[in-house]
Amino acid sequence: MAGRNHLYIPGPTNVPNEVLNAMHVPMEDHRSPIFPKLLTPLLEDLKKVFNTTTGQAFIFPATGTAGWEVAFTNVLNPGDKVLVYRFGQFAHLWAEMGKRLGFDVEIHQEDWGKGIPLDKLEARLKEDTNHEIKAVLATHNETSTGVTSDIAGVRKALDAANHPAFLFVDGVSSVGSIEFRMDDWGVDAIISGSQKGFMLPAGGAFLGFSAKALKAVETSTYPRCFLDLKDQITTNATGYTPYTPNLPILYGLRKSLDLMFAEGLDNIYARHARLGEGVRRAVAAWGLTTCAQEGFHSNTVTAVVVPADKDAREVISTAFNRYNISLGGGLSEVMGKVFRIGHMGDMNDVSMLGAIAGTEMAMLDCGFDIKAGSGVGAAIEYYRATAK
Ligand SMILES: *Cc1c(COP(=O)(O)O)cnc(C)c1O
Repeated sequence: MAGRNHLYIPGPTNVPNEVLNAMHVPMEDHRSPIFPKLLTPLLEDLKKVFNTTTGQAFIFPATGTAGWEVAFTNVLNPGDKVLVYRFGQFAHLWAEMGKRLGFDVEIHQEDWGKGIPLDKLEARLKEDTNHEIKAVLATHNETSTGVTSDIAGVRKALDAANHPAFLFVDGVSSVGSIEFRMDDWGVDAIISGSQKGFMLPAGGAFLGFSAKALKAVETSTYPRCFLDLKDQITTNATGYTPYTPNLPILYGLRKSLDLMFAEGLDNIYARHARLGEGVRRAVAAWGLTTCAQEGFHSNTVTAVVVPADKDAREVISTAFNRYNISLGGGLSEVMGKVFRIGHMGDMNDVSMLGAIAGTEMAMLDCGFDIKAGSGVGAAIEYYRATAK
């Protein structure tokens, strides 16, 4: 099919041409005297994206899933209890990893469509007077349902209960796109990945750990090797890595950070908020609803609920086969019930209008009772009214 495949999935996201070009480099000796000039500023600049001055940033040649494992195995001890609210596929997978790694995972089921229930969390932490819970796992942006949780609120709940548990945050689909403040929110581990807001291919786990978490790394007895932060700490100190780095990802990250700082993080957050709102207006104009309930809407991804007599998978396959656009599918509990439109990373008004138009065509083909142009029209009105 002529023209580009338009990628509207919530990761991997579109890679800007400048970043693609920056990654196209001959391999280098990563033990050379010039390598630290690449790595050291990247680690410093990641701290700016995490909004931390007191924490430390790390890069693993891996994906976000490895980031979960780094937090578990470096900061905690075998068998430790962790608390998680399960309200989407990523919260679920993180909890499952905890079980597989032998942790005592306390799982509370929540509606898929809501985020972390702050009142319940605070009550549970207050009840835990012996401080058996060693960490709270919080998915900042639940990519499967398009739900954003209030991490500042999670910190408030921990403080209100005067609870010393570590706060681990999955920011894979929020960091760099939705406001995230590691220091202000007292986050002990932030896990993000290259292929979402950083607009890169998969293959970089970008992590941040607080001073409190790094102190625990010194005494953790959990067995680990490839994912050991101690080896990173030792080698990063002189600008090197414990094993071969993913060089194109590092060069790509240099360029994507340059682009992000040039735009300004606050402007990026505002752009995502605006693009997301346009998509939500389109969904409302179609007469459909989002999986996310009021107050939980994500600015990086929208999960659209299809009518009960429709299968969202048909919309996705029609969109791909006929119109060459890629939409995200419903995962696990919402399979077939939702499709997802990503509005994360290198996106603008017109890219979103393409997503909305292509989705509209596919839904019409699948017999949805919507009016051609209704979603596009609603988004156009909103984007024009709010354009700078
Ligand atoms: C994409 C994603 C992950 C998984 O990351 P991988 O890079 O595929 O390992 C984890 N959490 C969230 C919220 C995500 O969106």
